[in-house]
Amino acid sequence: MPKNAPFELGWEEWLSLPDLGLPAIKAKIDTGAKTSALHASVIEPFGPPANPQVRFLIQPDPNDPSLEVTCSAPVVDRREVTSSNGVTELRYVIETVVEMGTRRFPIQLTLSNRETMTYRMLFGRGAIQPDMVVDANESFRMPELSYDLYKGLPKKTPVKRPLRIALLTREPNNYSSRRLVEAARARGHVIETIDTARCYMQIGTLYPTVHYDGKALPRYDAVIPRIGAKITDYGMAVLRQFSNTGAFCLNGAGSIGRSRDKLLAQQLLARANIAMPVTAFAHSPKDTKDLIDLVDGTPVVLKLLTSTQGRGVVLAETRKAAESLVDAFRGLDADFLVQEFVAEAAGADVRAFVIGNKVVGAMKRQAQKGEFRSNLHRGGTASNIRLTAAERDTAREAAKVLGLNVAGVDLLQTSEGPKVLEVNSSPGLEGIEKATGKDIAALIIQHVERQVRPLSRDREALGRPSRRINVN
Ligand code: ADP
Repeated sequence: MPKNAPFELGWEEWLSLPDLGLPAIKAKIDTGAKTSALHASVIEPFGPPANPQVRFLIQPDPNDPSLEVTCSAPVVDRREVTSSNGVTELRYVIETVVEMGTRRFPIQLTLSNRETMTYRMLFGRGAIQPDMVVDANESFRMPELSYDLYKGLPKKTPVKRPLRIALLTREPNNYSSRRLVEAARARGHVIETIDTARCYMQIGTLYPTVHYDGKALPRYDAVIPRIGAKITDYGMAVLRQFSNTGAFCLNGAGSIGRSRDKLLAQQLLARANIAMPVTAFAHSPKDTKDLIDLVDGTPVVLKLLTSTQGRGVVLAETRKAAESLVDAFRGLDADFLVQEFVAEAAGADVRAFVIGNKVVGAMKRQAQKGEFRSNLHRGGTASNIRLTAAERDTAREAAKVLGLNVAGVDLLQTSEGPKVLEVNSSPGLEGIEKATGKDIAALIIQHVERQVRPLSRDREALGRPSRRINVN
């Protein structure tokens, strides 16, 4: 087309709406209508009042209802629109970019869900550019597109859409929570902090919901669990319920349970041939001597299984000390373990931060002088460290065996290679972000974005009451 020639449109044209993730739409160019419209279904508003957004489903090919694309866009207005059949409805108005041939320009579209529309889009005269002329006797003056452009699209280039995320935590103001909220908002998502303990729910309904302060919570695309050790069981139940509503749970209830139960975690890791310090478990053994022999004698480390932040972890250098500690633990009626003391770790351990089968950062924690526990809460200091391939593989494998998408894997460095101490399902962000200088919170949110299934598939599960109960 020579320059300055009028831009000629026929009465039907192919165009694309790239920001909505729609590479090909056949539109009716309708000079009789002022407003342009997009035929959408399951139109669902979301987002805070200051930044309202709308999510909807569109079936771009009128002959293939199985082709569904989930779109979302900022709402610029709501407008009363009377359609050609005389029905007036309040419609959302969105603004997006339209591409016709080489031309790109912004367009306002109302969203309507009239099932009978033959064209998925009406291109009204309000959208016609000054140099455009419409020849009502012609069609397809623009380059021809095809619905084949949708093939494989959701997988290869997932449509970027704002997600509604719940951060399940009892501590909305701690560093990790604040960072996750910040990172999610910076990437355009809507995130709310939900206090795990205040959630309640009805079990056994076909439309599972989670209730909170007298109301049913909305449906979330994703839930990021940060469940404290004190309410692991209840937190897991809440998480299972969220999972049944179709939300993607960053770490599933099952995997959190496996990592929190230290006996189970160690057994699962051992079964997967992951190296760990030699460990013996006990509850109330009669034979203290034999228990200590199981780990080749002193020095040994004794750990209460309920320990966090190194609190219930003690070193017994002599057999006498070890025996009196075992006696004391027995009196507590608690599960504990006796572990070979890895002296060569020299008061240091390594925390590998795993997201989605990848180690995204690692730090070495060094205990204070005279202390073997390197926990930061015990005065340990952290520094960035580059892991060996073996250390990376061990960390990834440990998270995988327990089924955790996000995990903090603690390793001791030994001459025989890395040995796993513990796998944490709610690893803190402060130490690792400060030591590595990396935006770990953003990496977590990016992982969530990649994992959330396209809305259309979720819809299917929700629309028809599903009996598929997800127990993970
Ligand atoms: P917690 O879960 O309470 O943090 P850990 O098992 O991680 O307990 O132990 C706390 C710290 O003690 C570890 O970070 C590590 O520095 C040290 N430690 C634990 N077990 C051993 C061991 N078997 N040998 C040497 N040091 C250990």
